[in-house]
Amino acid sequence: MSMWQVVGQDRVVSLLQRSLARESLAHAYLLVGPPHVGKMTLALNLAQALNCQATERPCGECISCQKIASANHADVQVISLTREENSTEAKLHTEIGIDQIRQMQHSASLPPFEGEHKVFIIEGAEFLSTEAANCLLKTLEEPIGKVIFILLTVNDGLLPATVVSRCQRLELVPLAATEAESALVSRWGIEPPKAKLLVRISHGCLGWALSAAFDDNLLLQRAEKVDRLLEIIKADYEERFVYANQLAVQFTQNRGMVLEVLDLWLDWWRDLLLVKIGCHDTITNVDRLATLVEMAKGYRLAQIKDFISSIQASGEQLRQNANPRLVLEVLMLDMPGKEERSQGNLATRLSVKNG
Ligand SMILES: [Zn+2]
Repeated sequence: MSMWQVVGQDRVVSLLQRSLARESLAHAYLLVGPPHVGKMTLALNLAQALNCQATERPCGECISCQKIASANHADVQVISLTREENSTEAKLHTEIGIDQIRQMQHSASLPPFEGEHKVFIIEGAEFLSTEAANCLLKTLEEPIGKVIFILLTVNDGLLPATVVSRCQRLELVPLAATEAESALVSRWGIEPPKAKLLVRISHGCLGWALSAAFDDNLLLQRAEKVDRLLEIIKADYEERFVYANQLAVQFTQNRGMVLEVLDLWLDWWRDLLLVKIGCHDTITNVDRLATLVEMAKGYRLAQIKDFISSIQASGEQLRQNANPRLVLEVLMLDMPGKEERSQGNLATRLSVKNG
């Protein structure tokens, strides 16, 4: 039995298995899917299958498979955003630069060192700088024997079409909730209630669910963020603006973290909507049902819907590089507050905006 670690991506896995059996793999793959859906796991599995020493590949147990799993195999390299040197914060570069791609190309031109195939995994391919993408394109246009490139991205619309067209595109979709829950329970021995919570808050992306299953800090940190969110919902405009500014400052250092906070907001207000219309079974924050039920009583359906649209619009604007402070302040103004739950209070908004 070969051991593909990635769960729930049967269609993509069987396609790769057939290509492996026929030795008809593409020389470049583009794995597309949301964060933590299993793109890196699948890429590493493919690298293992290509270099495995067993007959049923990947076995997951031979030296080669183990080296790849622990990132110690000389012929399997991951290219991703690097950390800035001399930075005290854990600050990432905003792009994958041309130097990284040139180094990769040099390495690709050399024969495999210890395995059968060289595999280069480009994580976050949407972050390739224009020069880097153009440089990579040349390599993709002239395949090298025994070398395979695997690009990972959350959104292939952010990549040059020329690059996308040179790759075989494979889409990874999040697991259905029941499928993911039973995988967590049967394969990893996680208690059913915890499995349910993890699957809901990770939206079926098993990578995050598994990390959180074995690291309680992740759930604690999330709980803290939800608590903070609840404070802000109850807070006055002054406190909300302080919060907006904190997020805006954070955004300049770590965009991803702020976008995650917005996703948390979106989850919360979608839950309020679901509770309001009586669909308790499909909420994300299953551990906060009582709070949701109580809070939903204080809002009209239209207020909840409007604010969900505002959160979505803010996310779009931030992704399009709008001024983060402005976007987040407007979001805080848009959030229906205690004083206007029964009726929209435009006067309060205007006096705050002008004052
Ligand atoms: Zn193996």
